[in-house]
Amino acid sequence: MPDLMLTEEERMLQSTVREFVDREVAPRAREVDQREEFSWENWNGMAKLGLMGIGIDAAYGGNGSGGYRHVAIVAEEVARGDASASVSLLAHLSLGTTTIYKFGNEEQKKRLVPPLATGKGVAAWALTEPGSGSDAAALRTTATERDGTYFLNGSKTFITNAGVAESIVVFATQDASKGHRGISAFVVEKGSPGLQINALHGKLGIRGSTTDEVVFQDTPVPARNLLGEEGKGFNYAMEILDSSRIIVAAQCVGIGQAALESAVRYAQQRETFGKPIAQHQAIQFMLADMATEVHAARVATMHSATLKDQGLPFLMEASMAKLLASEMCVNVSSKAIQVHGGIGYFQEAGVERIFRDARVTTIYEGTSEVQRLVIARQLMNQYPL
Ligand SMILES: Cc1cc2nc3c(=O)[nH]c(=O)nc-3n(C[C@H](O)[C@H](O)[C@H](O)COP(=O)(O)OP(=O)(O)OC[C@H]3O[C@@H](n4cnc5c(N)ncnc54)[C@H](O)[C@@H]3O)c2cc1C
Repeated sequence: MPDLMLTEEERMLQSTVREFVDREVAPRAREVDQREEFSWENWNGMAKLGLMGIGIDAAYGGNGSGGYRHVAIVAEEVARGDASASVSLLAHLSLGTTTIYKFGNEEQKKRLVPPLATGKGVAAWALTEPGSGSDAAALRTTATERDGTYFLNGSKTFITNAGVAESIVVFATQDASKGHRGISAFVVEKGSPGLQINALHGKLGIRGSTTDEVVFQDTPVPARNLLGEEGKGFNYAMEILDSSRIIVAAQCVGIGQAALESAVRYAQQRETFGKPIAQHQAIQFMLADMATEVHAARVATMHSATLKDQGLPFLMEASMAKLLASEMCVNVSSKAIQVHGGIGYFQEAGVERIFRDARVTTIYEGTSEVQRLVIARQLMNQYPL
């Protein structure tokens, strides 16, 4: 990241995380991908650095400082080393923990946030169901209240971190006829009766993160674990997704940066026709385009994070950053394979993992099509007839 964009404090955060990632996370990335398992080594290392407490008040176990710019810097650096580690972190921090921190009452924050903010526990965030993804308001998991306890029935799918989570934020409907106004948000704790978690295998990329199916069979949730008000859950989910997009965009910048670095290095060592391929103009143009795309996505991401931190409207800019950065990292990682030629297609070079990891980013936390819908809606608001 160009120095001018960052404050002294941000530069320090960046170099601390970069140093940790280069030393511990990046060297493990290939093995974690092959094992297809959540890495507790990565998790505990990130927790030790205090990365799960950014933006959370010290009274709730957090660092007491930082905002979206800080989380974006961290997400980029972690993703540069291993996208799997970054998705585990962002599902935990900018989805799960932030929902409890933002919409929980004092008692809930005191009870639930400290283990999450210190990384002792992992959070997950469960909105998607087999029948509802982009159209999240169509969810069918039900919450029925009996004598001060809510009973959950239904299932969620593609839930990052669920298999390792202490707390899962779950969105369920109390009255499907009310559409999104019937949806409430709950915290389901690990080990709850009737809670079943099944790991989903066979992902294309981010294989070092756990993605799970979560099934509820009359799962009791005490009233004290209802977040905020009944019927407001959908609004909470959308608000969280609006800002979490910034962090996914930062993750994409990290993935793109990793692909770019790998391609530039390889181009200077591989020789064809008597000179390094970096001396061929076609390769130079490819590298220049890749660097330009990474830079543009980074600027857009930090701009949206700055707007968010300053309390300014950021919705359209966050969607633009997510759209731009996710499409960028798919494209740039594909070009990185091209620069590598045949070896790029094999695990040995490392860019095939980056390419596989990149692919999901145009799908989760709002597909590219959904981002375009958000941007178009904002445009109509800005320029009414
Ligand atoms: C690895 C992974 C991790 C995930 N982690 C989580 C998680 O932690 N928590 C969670 O809740 N979810 C998670 N998800 C789910 C993810 O957010 C959804 O997959 C995503 O929102 C898309 O929903 P869908 O899969 O149902 O696709 P659909 O909504 O069925 O979309 C299918 C296609 O139709 C397009 N489409 C849909 N509606 C429109 C429209 N109105 N106009 C134009 N095109 C449209 C989409 O863009 C897409 O191309 C994860 C997914 C993956 C793959």
